[in-house]
Amino acid sequence: MSAPTDKNTAAEAPKVSNFLRQIIENDLEKGTYATRRWAGSPGDAAHQAAGQPDPAKIRTRFPPEPNGYLHVGHAKSICLNFGLARDYGGVCHMRFDDTNPEKEDTEYVNSILDAVQWLGFSWDSTFNGQTEHHLYQASDYFDFMYRAAEYLIEAGHAYVDEQTAEEMRANRGDFGKPGVDSPFRTRSPAENLARFREMRDGLHEDGAMVLRAKIDMASPNINMRDPAIYRIRRATHHNTGDKWCIYPMYTYAHPIEDALEQITHSICTLEFEDQRPFYDWLLDRLCEGGLLEQPHPRQYEFARLNLTYVITSKRKLAQLVYDQKVSGWDDPRMPTIVGLRRRGYTPEAIQLFAERIGVTKSDSWIDYSTLEGCLREDLENKAHRGMAVLDPVKLVLTNWGEVFGSDAYLEDCIQPALPHSALAEGQTPPPERVFKIGREVWIEREDFEEVPPKGYKRLFPGNIVRLKGGYVIECTGVGAKDANGRVTEVHAKVIADTKSGTPGADRVKAKAAITWVGVADGVQAEVRLYDRLFKDAQPDAGGKDFLESLNPDSLKVVTAYVEPSLAAARPDEKFQFERFGYFVADRQDHGVGGKAVFNRVTGLKDSWGK
Ligand code: ATP
Ligand code: MG
Repeated sequence: MSAPTDKNTAAEAPKVSNFLRQIIENDLEKGTYATRRWAGSPGDAAHQAAGQPDPAKIRTRFPPEPNGYLHVGHAKSICLNFGLARDYGGVCHMRFDDTNPEKEDTEYVNSILDAVQWLGFSWDSTFNGQTEHHLYQASDYFDFMYRAAEYLIEAGHAYVDEQTAEEMRANRGDFGKPGVDSPFRTRSPAENLARFREMRDGLHEDGAMVLRAKIDMASPNINMRDPAIYRIRRATHHNTGDKWCIYPMYTYAHPIEDALEQITHSICTLEFEDQRPFYDWLLDRLCEGGLLEQPHPRQYEFARLNLTYVITSKRKLAQLVYDQKVSGWDDPRMPTIVGLRRRGYTPEAIQLFAERIGVTKSDSWIDYSTLEGCLREDLENKAHRGMAVLDPVKLVLTNWGEVFGSDAYLEDCIQPALPHSALAEGQTPPPERVFKIGREVWIEREDFEEVPPKGYKRLFPGNIVRLKGGYVIECTGVGAKDANGRVTEVHAKVIADTKSGTPGADRVKAKAAITWVGVADGVQAEVRLYDRLFKDAQPDAGGKDFLESLNPDSLKVVTAYVEPSLAAARPDEKFQFERFGYFVADRQDHGVGGKAVFNRVTGLKDSWGK
């Protein structure tokens, strides 16, 4: 038996151990799944042809319901499941849990596949030079699920219940009170089978009856009190169309999907912990009946991701979209994977985040700054630097013509695009950026004060500062004001022979260096300054209406000037705007109609504590 070569990056030694890694390592050591003689999972075509079933050491799966766009919480689950398979020579299956016909859509299916691939993972593996696709959908197994249900009925493990929904709810009992057996619980297998087939054949109304597992109405675990496993629902399914008018319940379908695909470690979030006894009960019964074989998959639970200032519920995210509180699923303020991507997050940063937050069994909140920190760490050595002026006011160097012979004279400034520390070893030539200094430049409005507050070091009459990467200048005062008394032009004098990188650079001492963009070669850009979407750290905690917590200032759009190297960005290219933080050229709008459009991803420092 040989392990598949997974397309996900080569196996690496695990960085930080956790309880799941320990379980897997223990299973690998004991050979828990090594002795299986099964036919392999449906996608193992090349292995089956070669007579080598069950190739993977471990199999995990990522099983979203295609009823919305994936969010940062799903990203944790994706990194975990695909990451474990990668690290232990296994395979991770991509599976759509499409047991709920009304809510699902192919738009969502495509967006989910896209998100997983963008995050850097693949459900393909190769064997004997052939690719095996581990892409599945629950609805492919509806026939098997139906057969398994008939088996459970025949073996006396399931019955058709015709109580009303209210009766069923009342008879289920609660934590302190055992349930009451349904009057239909003692029907014979033959009667139940006939009734179940009538359900399948459309002879009964939606909701008229359900198939229930027959376990124990007095169980302390309410999930074991004869859970429903099939219901009647006349709905067109995006995969099976109108073939079925009965659909399996998620809790019944999921263990079967795992078993048919030979999943070894079925990893899910903590809310499914109470479902685990049913998971095992069901698979044990089907193994007894010879429909499946031991050892069957096992379910393990971990704590879901809760991120401050963020909502991780597909339903609530959908509401933000449909109520037009945001521009769409990919609005850069959305915690969806498409939103994070458009905001400027990288797959590497998200993978780093998933690694850093770890996996535990107790619920907690992760601070949003942890995610931003991972992005800064990833972009620090990748994102080219550049200057942008976000709140521009014009600065005129009034003696420019005298010093350089002509008011129209322009001079190149050459600066590194990456700081020396960010260069890969031997990276030559280091990337550079070129921009022009001339008589007029744009500066930041806050970098000039007519009457400076105490300690102010930037431009005020008489003060000497450096235009970063250019010349040292001496401020002479206000050049012009508008009718409201707002400064529209600042005046200064350039000091000859002080350019950065020349022997004269240190000749005159400057109190500060300010960022700027040349009027001659600066390019106007729309810059979208995004902030947190919610004002509260836990916007939907304690039954609060999360819409009331929306931050009215989560987007501010400004007209800025950027240096030419930024304006030349490809859509999706990330930069560090000096002094302001990380920005990305918007992947939808940048370059459309010749317009430059940037999104702020995050500032340079953590500002969430404030
Ligand atoms: P939502 O409540 O947003 O609809 P869900 O759990 O219903 O989420 P699924 O499509 O069923 O969404 O989720 C697919 C997988 O992602 C599941 O295994 C689920 O446990 C996991 N998952 C969902 N939300 C989170 C989260 N916040 N943190 C970690 N894993 C999550
Ligand atoms: Mg779900």
